[in-house]
Amino acid sequence: MADRFGNHRVLVVAGSDSGGGAGIQADIKTVMALGGYATTAITALTAQNTVAVEDVHPVPPAFITSQMSAVMGDIGADCIKTGMLYDTASIAVVAEMMQPYAQKIPVVIDPVMVTQSGHRLLTEMASDRLREVMLPLATLVTPNLPEAEVLLGRPIDDDEQSMIEAAQELRELGSQAVLLKGGHGRGDQLVDVLVTASGVECWRGERLPTTSTHGTGCTLASAIATGIAQGMTLVESVDRARIYLRRAMEEAKGLGQGAGPVEHSF
Ligand code: PLP
Repeated sequence: MADRFGNHRVLVVAGSDSGGGAGIQADIKTVMALGGYATTAITALTAQNTVAVEDVHPVPPAFITSQMSAVMGDIGADCIKTGMLYDTASIAVVAEMMQPYAQKIPVVIDPVMVTQSGHRLLTEMASDRLREVMLPLATLVTPNLPEAEVLLGRPIDDDEQSMIEAAQELRELGSQAVLLKGGHGRGDQLVDVLVTASGVECWRGERLPTTSTHGTGCTLASAIATGIAQGMTLVESVDRARIYLRRAMEEAKGLGQGAGPVEHSF
């Protein structure tokens, strides 16, 4: 809810995207654009552009701990957001570091698994650990449909009723709220479903005709985390984040040969 000087601090625990469109780079740009202050604990470096992830270099788990500890020991955080966690070893240290702050600092978990270019950012072994140790720490978890299918271990239809049921089932895995995103659905009409302790909220919209979708998940989750850090309600945070992301997609400049990044400043 801000420090004594009014800073809205978001600690982002995620991977670096050398192409600048997703990961930590998208997170920092988003938090800045919405008026927050971003700190980071980098879990892995990716050699990546709009076409492919060419290489991944995981950060030693002890150094993830050092980064989180340096930030929390001095600057603190009003919200913690996690993205790419890569493997079971990093999940273990991130969960351990977050434990003392559970219930005190809100946590947004983007359960990043595979990029839109088809590269794994979470080892196959690690999705079980993500489900078991990370979700119970989450104020909000923000899966897309393929991630939700892995977490639930079953297929999910992209119609609204099926998504509401899936989001409710996901919430039983331990997070306080679930935002199940419909962007990976097949139709032109999309729905995002938020399930909290107090009920269900749906946002419906038309699919934007764009290939500039790289980093959209990171951007949305960081925008929500910034809203929470600024003291907005969950619904207000999701609402503003969706408006921000839509405009960021509309303003995209078509960088690179593949799925281009969204434009974070406008
Ligand atoms: N690269 C990194 C390091 C990320 O953390 C993420 C986040 O989801 C992505 C890539 C996602 O890329 P895309 O939006 O193309 O799926």
